[in-house]
Amino acid sequence: MDIPYTLSLLGSRIKLLEVLALIDGVKPAGRILCPEGKLRDTLAFLDGQGMAVEESPFKVLKDPSQGAYADRSFRAGRYDSRNGHVCLYVSKDSGRATEARDSEDRRDHRGFGLALGYPECCCAFFEEHFSASNTDLTLDTLEHSEGHVFPCYSTVAARHFDASLLSHFPCSFRCAESVALAQKHLNVLEKHAPEIAAAFMPLLRTGVVYARGDGPILLKGHRQEGSLISFDEVVAGRATKLYYLLSREKQLRVEGKNRIVVGGEVIEGKDRGVMVFQ
Ligand SMILES: [Zn+2]
Repeated sequence: MDIPYTLSLLGSRIKLLEVLALIDGVKPAGRILCPEGKLRDTLAFLDGQGMAVEESPFKVLKDPSQGAYADRSFRAGRYDSRNGHVCLYVSKDSGRATEARDSEDRRDHRGFGLALGYPECCCAFFEEHFSASNTDLTLDTLEHSEGHVFPCYSTVAARHFDASLLSHFPCSFRCAESVALAQKHLNVLEKHAPEIAAAFMPLLRTGVVYARGDGPILLKGHRQEGSLISFDEVVAGRATKLYYLLSREKQLRVEGKNRIVVGGEVIEGKDRGVMVFQ
């Protein structure tokens, strides 16, 4: 496969991994958000790879009022005049692609997750926590995870920087089935696109401070000594007050997964969290 072409067609490394895992048969079905302008070329490409594809009967429009990190979007009719994305349900098995399309169309989160091969525990977790007002489950996953130090495979925080080995929210950052899936996906990436696998790792293996609605702040080059985490560089999609504070201090103290101290300032609450992925 022509990796540079496929990457530019799909427009993201995460989507490239998804397609590679589908082609290798590691993933039974996938859902790919495709900009309408690229629909024809994407369908032709997937057909050329021997994949069965079903299209959503709706299109997805981003809700700009919610900010870039809210992961929030809404459905509109396929003939709506606004430009949006079409969901493509892709599988080697056409029955599975149809099942994925139909379960998402009737908003059956659990059935949809199972059709896509996500672990049952994570499908149940998603169904329990996801709602129109709670679409980013990163902090819910943290709440369900013991401690704050986790294997790097299960992070979903770096997806905002186009790096993730999982396309679902794990029920816990320790979910063994999710970690095993992520490792399989990493193997696929190493086989077909080793340079992308190498680019993923420093984004996955980081400390993360997460604030609901603001997305992640990655702490690169992190070192942990007891409750103290120091780091070389701070990367965020959004320059918030917390981002500047962390950039200046280059260290924080963990007093709990929802309570950190940075430069004498206490940052706490269920809508804040700290995680270390190693
Ligand atoms: Zn799970």
